[in-house]
Amino acid sequence: MKTLHKKLLVLGGGPGGYVAAIRAGQLGIPTVLVEGEALGGTCLNVGCIPSKALIHLAQEYAQACRFTGANALGIRVENPVLDLAQAQQWKGGIVGKLTGGVGALLRKAGVQVVQGWGTVVDGKTVEVATREGEPVRITCEHLLLATGSQAVSLPDLPLGGPVVSSTEALALAERPRHLVVVGAGYIGLELGIAWRKLGAEVAVVEAAARVLPTYDEELTRPVLASLRRLGITLHLNCTAQGLTESRDGLRVRSSNADEYALPADKVLVAVGRVPRTAGYGLEGLQLDMAGRAVKVDEQCRTSMRNVWAIGDLTGEPMLAHRAMAQGEMVAELVAGHRRRFAPQAIPAVCFTDPELVVAGLSPDEAEARGLDVVVSSFPFAANGRAMSLEGTEGFVRVVARQDTHQVLGWQAVGTGVSELAAAFCYAIEMGARLEDVAGIIHAHPTLGEAVQETALRALGHALHI
Ligand code: FAD
Ligand code: NAD
Repeated sequence: MKTLHKKLLVLGGGPGGYVAAIRAGQLGIPTVLVEGEALGGTCLNVGCIPSKALIHLAQEYAQACRFTGANALGIRVENPVLDLAQAQQWKGGIVGKLTGGVGALLRKAGVQVVQGWGTVVDGKTVEVATREGEPVRITCEHLLLATGSQAVSLPDLPLGGPVVSSTEALALAERPRHLVVVGAGYIGLELGIAWRKLGAEVAVVEAAARVLPTYDEELTRPVLASLRRLGITLHLNCTAQGLTESRDGLRVRSSNADEYALPADKVLVAVGRVPRTAGYGLEGLQLDMAGRAVKVDEQCRTSMRNVWAIGDLTGEPMLAHRAMAQGEMVAELVAGHRRRFAPQAIPAVCFTDPELVVAGLSPDEAEARGLDVVVSSFPFAANGRAMSLEGTEGFVRVVARQDTHQVLGWQAVGTGVSELAAAFCYAIEMGARLEDVAGIIHAHPTLGEAVQETALRALGHALHI
């Protein structure tokens, strides 16, 4: 068996692991990164990036189809055709460019990459079954676990045949006629809407009483209206019971025990993800756990000295940008810097139509903390840019302290609001007050003006409403 020794061993090359390795390399730390599948992890290969590409192409196709009929814009298109093979190739090209770029960045930073599945032997040793055949035993001073998460599967709906996870749903070679999505969370709605726009009949089965149940109802209302407009049928308070005998339908049970079948040539199971903690010897370390996640402190240290964990492995929120921020921090800690992970806000964006973005505290969260807050919102119906984008649905909402006016949280729903996440986080992290946001000149005409107007409205003197 070959042997190798480095100061830092990163297990897992997703956004958490590869960012940690790049930063460690920049800091001159001898680093090895072990990746069993493809550099870039879930996010670049089968998550954030391909899903956003699919959402974009679905939107473009839906627009072309819309223009075959009468429309306010006066555009006429005849017979739009979807070449799904070419579309999938385009999507694959984006993934290829980004994952290739990660490889180049790791090389530039001087990080050694070992391709193969790693097994944790102890807190300083990992054995890798390399693709080339000869295993490698790697020892290190610091072990960083960045092994990510995996999709939850339902016992009554094992993956296989027509039952797919998001990975297969992103790569379908043929448009399904009837797609049933189980779970109206991030993945279910992002991909369900995309396939509906690409021409599939889509039904969504959700156990809770609302779509996107982790967000408040006011925020999700425009998404619900859009789902209805798109012709996506919703089966709320319902659970999936398994495929029909003929395997071309899904049996569904409602909360009042009604049972019925929905036609389905594909069933996408999107009922959450769990940290990946089994199958690679992690149990042997007997780390303290927080539920199903590896427990870490505010520096991402586990309960074992010099064993660190980041990203989805450490639980919610399972978002790529959180994993990256943690990875960068751990590399700096290993280099001896003083750091801790204590963000005021980790933004979350749901790329539905319309989009939804939250950062910091919601009104309910502020109330639960016993804070005395002012909550104010401004509708996109009063924003010129939104009108010119045909996106007047939705609003921006702010939550600020009543006494100091310090901004604690933002929420928005509407066309293109994902790009407001940066402004929201700057305001929160820099401790801005409502007066600060209200006093900044925002470019006209932009959606950002709605951010300023929300702050003005909270102060009692909005200008455009
Ligand atoms: P991962 O990206 O899961 O990477 C872990 C890596 O470790 C994998 O490459 C795996 O092969 C490797 N690995 C695991 N065990 C071993 C081992 N024993 N040996 C060797 N290698 C190993 N987040 C967002 O912020 N925005 C989005 O828009 C978004 N969209 C998403 C869409 C979908 C469909 C999905 C599924 C997820 C999406 N996410 C999104 C979530 C995001 O992908 C994750 O939060 C992110 O990838 C977590 O990064 P990570 O580094 O912790 O783990
Ligand atoms: P999710 O937690 O967002 O949604 C799961 C949904 O399934 C919930 O609404 C839940 O009530 C429902 N559900 C659970 N069990 C059910 C059952 N038996 N029958 C019917 N419904 C059931 O999970 P997800 O959509 O699978 O996404 C997983 C994670 O991936 C997210 O939590 C997020 O961290 C990440 N992600 C992020 C983005 C983004 O940032 N834009 C996009 C996709 C995924």
